[in-house]
Amino acid sequence: MSREEPCGAIVRAEGLVKTYRPEGAAPVPAVRGVDLTVQRGEFVAVTGPSGAGKSTLLHLLGGLDRPDSGSIWLDGRQVDTCSEARWAVLRRKHIGIVFQFFNLVSNLTVADNVELPALLAGSSPRQARAARAELLAELGLEGKENSTPSELSGGEQQRVALARALVNAPSLLLADEPAGSLDSKGTREVLRLLSRFHQRGQTILLVTHDARVASAADRVISFFDGRIADDAPLGADRDRRTSGVADVLRLKG
Ligand code: ADP
Repeated sequence: MSREEPCGAIVRAEGLVKTYRPEGAAPVPAVRGVDLTVQRGEFVAVTGPSGAGKSTLLHLLGGLDRPDSGSIWLDGRQVDTCSEARWAVLRRKHIGIVFQFFNLVSNLTVADNVELPALLAGSSPRQARAARAELLAELGLEGKENSTPSELSGGEQQRVALARALVNAPSLLLADEPAGSLDSKGTREVLRLLSRFHQRGQTILLVTHDARVASAADRVISFFDGRIADDAPLGADRDRRTSGVADVLRLKG
């Protein structure tokens, strides 16, 4: 039976463990026991060197991968026990995800890419169109509605991916290296937009190996070797936060 989590947390994870077991190779422990709570409205960055287990953690929290052990609550409901079908519904309605390589549907227009998840979540065509129009305007993509992804720059494609992730007003936005394939202008743009949505109350968990990208968040979790090495709560604790990131960068070197 599911346990209820009566607090203001959007996400809570307890004792998460994930080991990959590739055939014919040694097991790879990727997440080695993580406890994490993200409160409503927080913008949290998980940073650390490549291979630290950051993407695995994000995949576990988004139900894209299953933990070997541990529990996850989303909006107070235990979700680690959910079926694949239930996770798909959760992702459609409550969790938006942006990836490094955008993952847009290449043969659909920008408008259709953004409207599709709204329609799948049960919006009427009119509601989906209205939500799409508002988001594309907000993201500076007016006039691009009928383009296909390949006609856009990387930065524009990531903005479309952001619109798609936000169209159902998810409780949680997960971003996996959202600036990882962008130039510095695209990176600044995506960070500016994430900050803007955060200021309006969007809860964001972002995973990045780039300490500069992480510094857009108001809480930085340093991840190393599958574990949380440092977790600096808020802006007031900025010194500690900076030193945590510096530690990880030193470890990386
Ligand atoms: P990060 O996002 O911090 O770069 P990952 O979560 O991608 O780290 O990877 C953590 C560890 O798990 C790494 O050693 C990586 O090689 C390994 N790993 C990730 N995905 C798989 C997989 N599908 N199969 C086997 N090993 C994997």
